[in-house]
Amino acid sequence: MMESVVAYTLERCVKCMKCIQACPVSAVSMENNRIIVAHERCTNCGRCIDACHSQGLVAQGSTLVDIANYDYTVCLVPPALTSACRSKEEAEDLFNGIKLLGFDEVVDLSPYYGTVLRESLAYQTENRPAIVSMCSVVNRLIKTEYQVLIDHLIPMNYPAEIAARDLRMKLTDKGTVGIFNMCECASRLVHAKYPYGTLDSEIDHALSIADTFPLIRKNLGKGRQKLNLCRDGFAAMDTAMLGEHPRVLAADGYDKVQNILELAEFGRLKEFDVLYLLPCFNGCSGGQLLFGNGYLSHQNIPSLTEKETGCCQDVAEECIWRDSFMAEEDQRSFMEKMEFFRKVNEVLEKLPGYDCSACGMRTCRIMAEEIVSGNRSLSDCHILNSASREDVK
Ligand code: SF4
Ligand code: SF4
Repeated sequence: MMESVVAYTLERCVKCMKCIQACPVSAVSMENNRIIVAHERCTNCGRCIDACHSQGLVAQGSTLVDIANYDYTVCLVPPALTSACRSKEEAEDLFNGIKLLGFDEVVDLSPYYGTVLRESLAYQTENRPAIVSMCSVVNRLIKTEYQVLIDHLIPMNYPAEIAARDLRMKLTDKGTVGIFNMCECASRLVHAKYPYGTLDSEIDHALSIADTFPLIRKNLGKGRQKLNLCRDGFAAMDTAMLGEHPRVLAADGYDKVQNILELAEFGRLKEFDVLYLLPCFNGCSGGQLLFGNGYLSHQNIPSLTEKETGCCQDVAEECIWRDSFMAEEDQRSFMEKMEFFRKVNEVLEKLPGYDCSACGMRTCRIMAEEIVSGNRSLSDCHILNSASREDVK
């Protein structure tokens, strides 16, 4: 099971409970006066981090210290970061600045994004609309909350994973190769080996752009790394550009993505061939670890990709997801789930239904699920408790 990348610092927490209200899947709760993130529920969307103004919650990544553990190191740079540059020259300066952090090679991911977009749109499936997402938040959301749509997901691997595998095959003569992924949002941080990602990831370390950028800035203006960017790679993470494709419904922003999934669940979007879903506002260039503005990044793309030809032709076969997409799936049978929810509804009728969060849970329904799972009891409800104290008086 993938872990949550959300890290909590008790000393910084002011107990405002904003993170509990912000989490769309009710993965955050308060217990014994400290915040708990339920790993099995968390989709790593980062909304709790955005809601926390005290730095009580942060997205945890690797550090540059790990560079020293390898003979040869590569840093992967997503198009979301490149699009924050206003010109190709600025982008080439940025790539050189990243290399000067100590990497042997810095690789632009836009050709891999472009290839995955092309292969996804060409993918043949009977389950319409097909759902494309290069984001693990959407994939996890579907697996946990919209399971009837699992068969609609196109089984494409993530561009950074495909790039890492491709590079490993090309760098066999370099000794131990360390692959670092520069990440624009919390969910990308899981694209690395355990503890946050999976053991079999081809990526060794995930770096937060927010943490790394102050160091990169010191290296700007010291040279340029030549780039050949892929326009389709930028389109793959930009909903405005994706909307140019006929019969593709592209949506950005968590709430809108959830709304689209609800409509799809009830068979209301059959006129579309493809749903392309990016939970960050403005697509990946709106990632919360980025320093730029998603609207400006969209405007930068034409000048960045003018006359560019880069696109990855030789990794198309690597795009298909090789692991079982259902591997993390809830293994409970349908009947067990029905029985579980029957008990939840029974408990829910005993709770006051105020969704006040005084118990530390976002809603009474989540509290009821916790009670049925054996993690809480009715006596943990503050409202019921105070009512019974009144009765005693
Ligand atoms: S990252 Fe998203 S899903 Fe995970 S706890 Fe925070 S708000 Fe909830
Ligand atoms: S948002 Fe959550 S983690 Fe941040 S200060 Fe408030 S209660 Fe603490």
